[in-house]
Amino acid sequence: MTAEKKIKKVGILCSGGDSPGMNCAIRAFVRTAIGAGLEVYGIRRGYAGLLEGDIIKMDESSVGNILQHGGTILQTSRCPEFHEADIRKEASHILARKKIDALAVIGGNGSFNGAHALHEEHGIPIAALPGTIDNDITGTNYTIGFDTAVQTAVEAVDKIRDTASSHARTFIVEVMGRSSAAIALHVGVCTGAENVVVPSDNIAYGQIASDIQRGIVRGKNSSIIICAEGKVPGLSYKIQENLKETHDIDAHVCILGHIQRGGNPSSLDRFIASRMGFVAVNELLNGNKAFVTAFVSGEVTPVPLNECLEKRDEYLPQTVDLVKALSI
Ligand code: ADP
Repeated sequence: MTAEKKIKKVGILCSGGDSPGMNCAIRAFVRTAIGAGLEVYGIRRGYAGLLEGDIIKMDESSVGNILQHGGTILQTSRCPEFHEADIRKEASHILARKKIDALAVIGGNGSFNGAHALHEEHGIPIAALPGTIDNDITGTNYTIGFDTAVQTAVEAVDKIRDTASSHARTFIVEVMGRSSAAIALHVGVCTGAENVVVPSDNIAYGQIASDIQRGIVRGKNSSIIICAEGKVPGLSYKIQENLKETHDIDAHVCILGHIQRGGNPSSLDRFIASRMGFVAVNELLNGNKAFVTAFVSGEVTPVPLNECLEKRDEYLPQTVDLVKALSI
C-alpha cells in the first residue's frame, strides 16, 4: 500500500516562445488524461496566467481541430516575476486552491527551470515537455517545433535561391537560433549553402569571401550564406558590410525572423508532440514526480527534469564538415 496521494486533477501550460506542434502536445495530454479518468485544466498565458488564476477546465472537444495549427491555443508568455521564490509560492497556493495535483509545462529550458523550482520548493509533480524551435535543451535530442522551423526556412531559402540564380547574386539569409546553431546548420545542408555562420563562431569573413569567390570562379551563378541570428538579429548586416568593404562583394540580406516560429506543424512534430503528451500523462500516473518527455534513441522516454535544465549548444561539428564538403 502506498500512502502517496493519487493524482486526480492535472494542469497544463505553455511558457516561453511558442513553437509549432505545441497544440498537438496539448491535445494528446488532454485526451490521454481524460481517457485515464483525470480532470484537466488549461492554464492560459504560461506562468503569468497561472499567477492570475487564468485557468479553464478542458474537455475532449476543447482540443478538437487544433493539431494542424501552429502556435498554442493556451497562449504563452514570459513572466520575469517567476524567478522570485515568493511568487512561485503564490503559484503553488493557486494550484492547491484549484486542487491541481500535477502540472505539465511545455517550453524551453527557461520554463523548465521555473517548473523545477516549483517542484523542489513545493513538491508539485512536474511533466516537462520540450517545446522550442531551437532544439537546444540538454537531455533530449529533439524539441517540438524544430523540424517545422527548419522546413519553413528551407522553403524560404529555396525561393531566394531562384532569384539569386537568376540575377547571379549572393544572399545572406539570417535564420533563428538564439544560442543554438541547429537551425542554421540543418538549413545550410538542406539548401546547399556555400557557408554557415553560427553564434559561437568568430566570424571568418575571409573564409566567407573566399567560399563565394571560389564558387564564382567555378561558374556558380549564386551564393547563399546562412547566418544564425544569435542573441540579437542583424548580424547579417555586419557580414554584408565587411564583404563589400574588404572584398568588394555585393551581398543582399534577408532576415527570416518570426515566420519560422509559426505555421502548420510538420508530421514529425505532430507525431513526437503527440507521443510526448501521451507519455507525460502515463508517467505522472506511474508516480514519476519530475521528468522531461525526452526524445532519446528514436523514442520518447522520461528523463529526470534536473538533467534537462541547461541549454545545449548544438554546434554539430559533423554538420559543419558536411556543409564544407558539399559546397566546393
Ligand atoms: P524558454 O522556456 O523558451 O527557454 P524563457 O527562458 O524566456 O523561455 O523562460 C520562460 C519563462 O520561464 C520565464 O519568463 C520565466 O517565467 C520562467 N523562468 C525562466 N528561467 C527561470 C528560472 N531560473 N527560475 C524560475 N523561472 C524561470
